[in-house]
Amino acid sequence: MKRKTFHNAAGYKRVLWGLQAVFIALPAVLFLTGCAGNPGGRTEPYSETFFAMDTYMTFTIYGAKAEDSLKQAEDRIRELEGLWSVTDIKSDIYAVNHSGGKPVAVDGETEELLSFALEMAEETGGALEPTIYPVLAAWGFTTGENRVPDREEIEELLNRVDYTGVRWDGGSIVLEEGSMLDLGAVGKGYAGDQVIQLLKENGVTSALLDIGGNIQAVGAKPDGSSWRVGLKDPFSGGVLGVIQVADEAVVTSGSYERYFTGKDGKRYGHIIDPATGYPVDNGLASVSVIASEGKLCDALSTALFVMGLEDAERYWRQNQGFDMILVTVDEGIFVTEGVKDRFSLQSEYQDMTVNVIEK
Ligand code: ADP
Ligand code: MG
Repeated sequence: MKRKTFHNAAGYKRVLWGLQAVFIALPAVLFLTGCAGNPGGRTEPYSETFFAMDTYMTFTIYGAKAEDSLKQAEDRIRELEGLWSVTDIKSDIYAVNHSGGKPVAVDGETEELLSFALEMAEETGGALEPTIYPVLAAWGFTTGENRVPDREEIEELLNRVDYTGVRWDGGSIVLEEGSMLDLGAVGKGYAGDQVIQLLKENGVTSALLDIGGNIQAVGAKPDGSSWRVGLKDPFSGGVLGVIQVADEAVVTSGSYERYFTGKDGKRYGHIIDPATGYPVDNGLASVSVIASEGKLCDALSTALFVMGLEDAERYWRQNQGFDMILVTVDEGIFVTEGVKDRFSLQSEYQDMTVNVIEK
C-alpha cells in the first residue's frame, strides 16, 4: 500500500490523521512495549510460541504464575483442537462429518461452539456458513492442492451447504449425509476466550495472546497502559497502523495470507462467499473486529469480510457491540467511531485518509 487519495464515498466523514507519528520500531504484526518502566515491580513476561490449530500461537503472560499458566493454556488449546479438528479422526467434528446422517453425541464445548456458530450464521444472513467445508475442499484449501473448480461442480457442492440443515437430537448433532462442518472461522476465537478465562482464574491480570493472528488481551500492560496491537497492511505485510486495546480481542480476516494464484492469474482466498461458492472478491482486503469476546470477533471478521463494505457498515449500525477496521483493495481505510481515537497509522502511511463510519 502506498500513499494515495481515494474517492470520497458519500456519508463518510474524512478525517486526516496528521503528523502525530508513532515512531516505534515494529518488527512484527504484534509488538509489545512497556516491558520495562514499572519501578520496583518485576515486569518481565513469560512467553512461548507453539503450533496448534494449524497455526502458530504466541502467549505472553505476566505475573508470578505466568509459566504454569502458559502450560495450562497450551494444554487447553490442544484439548479444544482435539474436539474440533476436521482431520483428526478422534475429533467430534470428524465424527459428525463422517456420521452418514446418524446422530453423534458430542462434548458440551462442541455443542456450545456449534450453537454459537449457527446463531451467528443466522444473524449474518448466512455470510458465516459453518457447513461450507465441501466447497472449501473443492478449491483445495483443506489439502493445499489448490485448483479452480468449474461452475457446475460448485453448484453441485452448494446443494450440500446449508447451516439450517444441522439438527440437534438432545446433546447429539445430526448432519445430513454429504454435509460437513468446519468451525475454523470461529474456533480460534472461542479457544481464546477459554484461555482468557483460565488465566483469569489463575489470577493473571496481564497477558497477550496471539492465536494465529487473533489477538486477545487480559487486562492492560503491567504499567496500566493499553496494549499496542499492530494491524497488518494486507498488501505489503508491513504494519499499517496501531490499535490500543485492553481486555479485548482484535481479530482480522482477509484473503492476503491464505490464497493461491490460479492459472488465470487471479488470486483466490480461503474465505468463501456461501452465496456463490467462490472466494470472496468484493473489494475488501481485510476486516478487523474489536470487541470483548474473541468468538464474536472471529465470527464477525469472517462474516463481514464476506458481506463487503456496505453491508458490513449496515450490520454494524444495526447490531453495535463491536468496532471494526476495514481496508479495501483500492486502499481505503474505514473505521467505526469507537476506533477513531485509539487507532493511528504508522509513519509511512500518515497521509492516507481514515474514513470514520458514524452511527
Ligand atoms: P483465519 O482462520 O485465517 O484466521 P477466519 O477466521 O476468517 O480466518 O476463518 C477462515 C476459515 O473459515 C477458512 O479457512 C475456512 O476454514 C472457513 N471458512 C471459509 N469461508 C467461510 C464462510 N463463509 N463461513 C464460515 N467459515 C468459512
Ligand atoms: Mg473468523
